[in-house]
Amino acid sequence: MQGTIQGSGWIEVICGSMFSGKSEELIRRVKRARIARQQVIAIKPSLDVRFSTNDVVSHGGDKIECLPVCDSREAEAAIPADAQVVAFDEAQFFDPGIVDLCVGLADAGVRVIVAGLDCDFRGEPFGPMPELLARAEYVSKLQAICVKCGNPATRTQRIINGRPASYSDPQVLIGASEAYEARCRRCHEVPDRPRPHATGGD
Ligand code: ADP
Ligand code: ZN
Repeated sequence: MQGTIQGSGWIEVICGSMFSGKSEELIRRVKRARIARQQVIAIKPSLDVRFSTNDVVSHGGDKIECLPVCDSREAEAAIPADAQVVAFDEAQFFDPGIVDLCVGLADAGVRVIVAGLDCDFRGEPFGPMPELLARAEYVSKLQAICVKCGNPATRTQRIINGRPASYSDPQVLIGASEAYEARCRRCHEVPDRPRPHATGGD
């Protein structure tokens, strides 16, 4: 059985746009648990090679050690039996199996901390995050500061070759110069969006 904190586990999700401080908050929570001598493991999908492969690094420069894995099955295999706290960063990039893994861990008494983008650059819910948010006991939705107007930023603006990325642009564009900015709802630009909040299929 997984290690327990007085027998009860739970899921806490930290979400928001890019630059909203998700990694900083995850790092803060992990450091505090370690200070309290909890058995902690931090895990992220290996495709996030933003800054380094064996750390979670915030845009502000804080970091903790983090195990890169290919998918949720590899994550499950890597979690030690005595883990009391399991933290996942960049959870939006995990396969759907991350949901059952988090629920199973929490049911077994583990504190599960999940950080991830709630929405992609189009402003659409991202990967397994909606279900994780629904199943979590605690949700922290963080905001950055809109670089255009200074209001709270809840969206991630993708910019390709100096222009707002189109709704239909692929996730990976080879040879293009790409950048991301934090923006508010009003300043977030998505050319060619079918219609606001379209769900597809109709
Ligand atoms: P996330 O994991 O949500 O992308 P990080 O924790 O990596 O965020 O980084 C948050 C840090 O990003 C802030 O403390 C600040 O130093 C920096 N930052 C850069 N641009 C912005 C912005 N527009 N609004 C707020 N913070 C920003
Ligand atoms: Zn704005």
